[in-house]
Amino acid sequence: MNLYEQNPYWLMKDGIVASYPSLDKDLDIDVAIMGAGISAALTAWYLRNTGLKVAVFDRRHVGMGSTAASTAFLQYEIDTSLTDLSNYVGEKNAVKSYELCRKAIYDIGDICKTLKPKFDFNLVPSLQYASFKNHTSKLQQEYQLRKKYGFKVGWLEEADIKNTFGFEAPGAIFSEDGGEVDAYLLAHALLKDFQAKGNKVYNNTHITQVENTKHGIILQTHSRLKIKAKKLVIACGYESLKYVPKQIAEIHSTYAMVSEPLDDKYFWHRNSLVWETATPYMYFRVVSENRILVGGRDDPNHHPHIKPSLISKKAEQLTSSFLRKMPHIPLKPDFSWAGAFAITTDGLPYIGSIPERPNTYFALGFGGNGITFSVIAAEILKDLIQGKKNENAALFEFNR
Ligand SMILES: Cc1cc2nc3c(=O)[nH]c(=O)nc-3n(C[C@H](O)[C@H](O)[C@H](O)COP(=O)(O)OP(=O)(O)OC[C@H]3O[C@@H](n4cnc5c(N)ncnc54)[C@H](O)[C@@H]3O)c2cc1C
Repeated sequence: MNLYEQNPYWLMKDGIVASYPSLDKDLDIDVAIMGAGISAALTAWYLRNTGLKVAVFDRRHVGMGSTAASTAFLQYEIDTSLTDLSNYVGEKNAVKSYELCRKAIYDIGDICKTLKPKFDFNLVPSLQYASFKNHTSKLQQEYQLRKKYGFKVGWLEEADIKNTFGFEAPGAIFSEDGGEVDAYLLAHALLKDFQAKGNKVYNNTHITQVENTKHGIILQTHSRLKIKAKKLVIACGYESLKYVPKQIAEIHSTYAMVSEPLDDKYFWHRNSLVWETATPYMYFRVVSENRILVGGRDDPNHHPHIKPSLISKKAEQLTSSFLRKMPHIPLKPDFSWAGAFAITTDGLPYIGSIPERPNTYFALGFGGNGITFSVIAAEILKDLIQGKKNENAALFEFNR
């Protein structure tokens, strides 16, 4: 499966950050982590001081799956509104999920401070505007519900949006809690710290067979090496779906483009992330080097090879959608790419284990909030792997 096509901006900007060897001998360890994207890197980092012998294996290079393609905004508002999520899982669980996502943003901020050298992390607010007048009342209802549960939100009328953001929309929720991080670099930084504690990371090591036994796991690699582990974490992103016997998510395609650098004078209120209520939605934000990122316009299916001409067409569509909102900004596309994007029915991730695979744990951060979900997964799995209870595990388990 190809997880992205063409030139994700962060991969082009950051290039090869660090190299790790491929596995060259059989191993006997406590915990094997399959995948070395942001989910695996966070899980490995949370396990780094537990005294367990942990190793990470990736069939590509660190961060070169969806993590490299991510637009990497950290939001507590998941793709399913709090109002809709309450209908799926009940208001109490929906609010708890939103609160955990909000906490995950600040947890990433704290992790970034402890890394050496300190890792760049910014808190940035977000604005969700009603795409059409008839979306306003539902958005207002969402605002009321979030306010009721103490989320830091404000309601903006049409005139406020025009004054603070410079574009027209019939109403919007302004949210204080949000963040941004370079997920590709962060995966490397976390694994560097994990490695510094004596743990191992292997690239170019494709796990081709997973055998679940009563006492543990036996993995076989493409070069017929064997890894014996007491526990396994599957953090293979969307490629993890093949290890789950039932369909839990749909894979869509999503598109993004990053502009040429622009003058500061063109930016808007606190460089907030802006997104809309329409489906599929468009979002835009300011990224490094004074560039603007515009993403979205998803397709409800994913082809293993997306044609470059389709990616260019989507970049043009994203540019014209943006210019309809902000015609005064001379936006010119510089990088564009497409990525796979998994969507679950309720918008929540799947974290934990299934009876068919004993001693195995999944860290499946799906949807537009994959990275905040990865933090939640790492926190839950750290407990479960050590045989401890985690009070939040039930929210994201497979049989919810
Ligand atoms: C365009 C785009 C925009 C996005 N925007 C956001 C956003 O703004 N905010 C947000 O929070 N999320 C966003 N996401 C989602 C987020 O990027 C993902 O949820 C996240 O990167 C998934 O990380 P992961 O580590 O789970 O998976 P991946 O990064 O895909 O890592 C999985 C790794 O597993 C490896 N692997 C697979 N099979 C095997 C095997 N058999 N053996 C060994 N290794 C294997 C792969 O090589 C890969 O490196 C976006 C995604 C895309 C594509």
